Formats: sequence, structure tokens, C-alpha cells
Amino acid sequence: MTSDQSYTGGCQCGAIRFRAASLGRASVCHCRMCQKATGGIAGVFVTVAAFDVTRGALKHFRSSSKVRRGFCADCGTPLTFEIDRTETAGGGIGMSIAAFDRAAEIAPMIQLARDTRLPWVDNLPALPERSPAETAGIAAHYAGIVSHQHPDHDTETWPLQ
Ligand SMILES: [Zn+2]
Repeated sequence: MTSDQSYTGGCQCGAIRFRAASLGRASVCHCRMCQKATGGIAGVFVTVAAFDVTRGALKHFRSSSKVRRGFCADCGTPLTFEIDRTETAGGGIGMSIAAFDRAAEIAPMIQLARDTRLPWVDNLPALPERSPAETAGIAAHYAGIVSHQHPDHDTETWPLQ
């Protein structure tokens, strides 16, 4: 990660774009709420400072008495984990790491709620991959796909003309 520029990202459809001035702790949370909210194997978030939505507006679901989660109402991409500020907690915002344009640079540094991880998660690195013959067999299918996903950088207008 570099510190001389802010961190941009957005949802899959591009209706929402965001920018964070700096990043804090990156984590993988295996709690059942993060599994459900992301529709994935875990919540993978990084805390952010000076966070701004630069295009569109988040919609929120209050998933508990102390947390609300922001997402794109147009495409459904989960984007934020927002803890209320209370007398005993400072509050804060976590952003979905995969929603950042340079997500590969933001590696988690801690696991949370590991006891409730999906039991097969630990076996993922050992799973087989598609064979070369299978890959070749579907190459034409993939070659014909036209992506409607927003590119991994800010755009002046969207959709692109
Ligand atoms: Zn969207």
C-alpha cells in the first residue's frame, strides 16, 4: 500500500463510488452475521478514516442494535460495516476490502469469530482446480461475456458511453 494517495473503490454497478484517506485494521470476520450480510464465506473489512461517498448514496440495513451495514441499492454489493459511537466504543466504519479498486494490496491481518467459521473454509486451499480440458471447453463461453461491472478506477460518467 502507498500512503501518498487515497483509496478508491465502489460497488459492482458503479452507482456508488467511495474514497478513504487512510486505512486501518484489515480483518476477516467469520461471524454468522458477516457471512449472511456478504453472502460469502466471511466479512472481509478494513477500517477507514476520512471516508467519503463520491458518487451515489448508500442504503443501510441495521443488522443489530449497534451496527448498520451499507450497500448499493441498485446492485446489492455489500460495502460498509458501521459501528455506532457509544460511551464505551469509539465507533467506526469498515469497508469491504474487495470493493476497493486495489483490493489485492489490502491483506487481512487478523481473524475474528474464528469459532463460527464455516467448517469447510480451512480446506479451501486443498480443493482441486478445473482441469486444462475443462478450462479449454468453456473458453469460448468466457470469451463471449460482456461485463457490466464498473472498472477499478473512478470515472467521470457511468455507464461509459
Ligand atoms: Zn451498485
